[in-house]
Amino acid sequence: MEYFPAPLEKLVEQFAKLPGIGGKSAQRLAFYVLGLSQSEAQEFAQAILDAKQNVTCCPICQNLTAGGVCSICASQKRDASIVCVVADPRDVIAIERAREFNGRYHVLHGVISPMNHIGPDDLQIKSLLDRVGQGEIKEVIMATNPDTEGEATAMYIARLLRPFGVKVTRLAYGIPVGGHLEFADDATLMRALEGRREI
Ligand SMILES: [Zn+2]
Repeated sequence: MEYFPAPLEKLVEQFAKLPGIGGKSAQRLAFYVLGLSQSEAQEFAQAILDAKQNVTCCPICQNLTAGGVCSICASQKRDASIVCVVADPRDVIAIERAREFNGRYHVLHGVISPMNHIGPDDLQIKSLLDRVGQGEIKEVIMATNPDTEGEATAMYIARLLRPFGVKVTRLAYGIPVGGHLEFADDATLMRALEGRREI
């Protein structure tokens, strides 16, 4: 493509690298940026640099934080004896939104995926074992997604945790709110039954 001046072309290329952005969308976003005022463009570029520079992983739970220990690990109100293991920082936000969980987290930053060449060493598994090894944690909830890779990762970690003698649990997945039993697949129904509780 030689239709655009080189700097504009470069901007389009950058947007086209973003997940879910095709060529047409990349052009649309680049033209949007061109339409910004100088100060707006500055703010946009600065936000990218700031996020990249200042967002780090909490040294305890590996969740994203703006430097140092995250607010959840730092909070005395959170139960340090129970840790919920999730694949992604966005899963922490989802669980926090439910306001049901008062323990702490551990973020793996992915799941084991041989197809994508992601092995246990690419994830924050060792840091989890180190944490559990310190002895304060009594229960580990495996809250990876109920898909093949999520299940395999949960099983793998559960096996590694066995020697520590901690309780390892799995989220009870079931019928989604508003869902119908007849449309639920076998695995979902099985999980829903397993996770049943007294009412
Ligand atoms: Zn933390």
